Amino acid sequence: MSVFEHSEFDGHEHVAFYQDASSGLKAIIAVHNSNLGNALGGCRMWPYATDEEALRDVLRLSKGMTYKAAMAGLNQGGGKAVIIGNPRTEKTPEKMVAMGNFIDSLSGKYISAEDSGLTVDDLKLMGNQTRHVSGIQAKYHINSEPADGNPAPSTAYGVYVGLKTTVAKAMNSDLNGVKVAIQGLGHVGLRLAKHLHSQGACLYVTDIHTENIEKAVNEYSAIAVSPEDIFDLDVDVFAPCAMGAILDEKNIARLKVKAIAGAANNQLAKEEFGQLLADKGILYAPDYVINAGGIIDIYHQSISSSDSQMREHIEKISDTLLEIYSRAQSQGIATNIVANQIAEERFG
Ligand code: NAD
Repeated sequence: MSVFEHSEFDGHEHVAFYQDASSGLKAIIAVHNSNLGNALGGCRMWPYATDEEALRDVLRLSKGMTYKAAMAGLNQGGGKAVIIGNPRTEKTPEKMVAMGNFIDSLSGKYISAEDSGLTVDDLKLMGNQTRHVSGIQAKYHINSEPADGNPAPSTAYGVYVGLKTTVAKAMNSDLNGVKVAIQGLGHVGLRLAKHLHSQGACLYVTDIHTENIEKAVNEYSAIAVSPEDIFDLDVDVFAPCAMGAILDEKNIARLKVKAIAGAANNQLAKEEFGQLLADKGILYAPDYVINAGGIIDIYHQSISSSDSQMREHIEKISDTLLEIYSRAQSQGIATNIVANQIAEERFG
């Protein structure tokens, strides 16, 4: 397995491999770029079939964090960590302690937060070994929600602010009466539904589990649709809040919307599909720009800040999107490509 020659290597500054014999921990930390500051990014535990699969994932994710942090206006670089193993059957306190030691060995060059497969309690175990862990204790709140270390309320608020800006640009309208299809009613999607309902938007929702659908129908007057039908609706906005890679050629052809604005990571199955959306006249809010509320939250929890400073920072997602839309329009380039260009100007 080559690292420097890896197709996802992309000039990474630092890639560290770690094995702890007594706990059985095997993990990788990747720091993509620290020009703007020490690298911040989640730690993921996943049952990777091979070491190569784990390396590919950590390299791809840490690069993504550099772009996300730069566009969120953070003085942080991009990094990520992966633990190789099944979080349901192979996670032990000893491995979390060993992971804390691994993070500490990089002396703050990488600051860890929560990602798939890990909980706030796991991070607390790591935090006993190192101070370079964020998202354990939340001091600041968004919209009076209890702060428990989960950044989803801030992510949802950022997506709501960004969706409002995107609708204003695409439709010259506020949210009253605008029809929004939400795919996925988890931590972010359900909160987004609440924000949109409060502004008079008409909601169409889907999920593969029923519990939150009932809540959206009863409390936010949403109309439930099947997961298969969510792409075919005659609505104004599609808000992907479930999984990635849903914007492929087939689904893009089905969409009748004027805008796409949602929380899911890596929404475009391929980067070039951003142009396909532009050609169809669909305004696409680049995923890592509109879903940055969570990373902004984690950043503020690690500095001396306040509820209002954190909220104002999240609301800047709106200005960033407007800059992207204006450049995309004047240069005739897809919004996702413009976002990458602006990020590279900031961290390069
Ligand atoms: P979550 O797991 O709480 O919710 C996802 C929801 O999508 C679940 O209810 C799940 O049942 C549903 N779902 C899965 N497959 C589906 C399908 N085919 N059709 C319809 N629904 C489906 O996750 P979340 O924290 O709400 O995050 C949502 C998305 O936003 C994810 O892609 C995540 O990576 C991204 N994101 C989240 C945050 C955050 O702060 N939580 C931050 C940035 C990005």
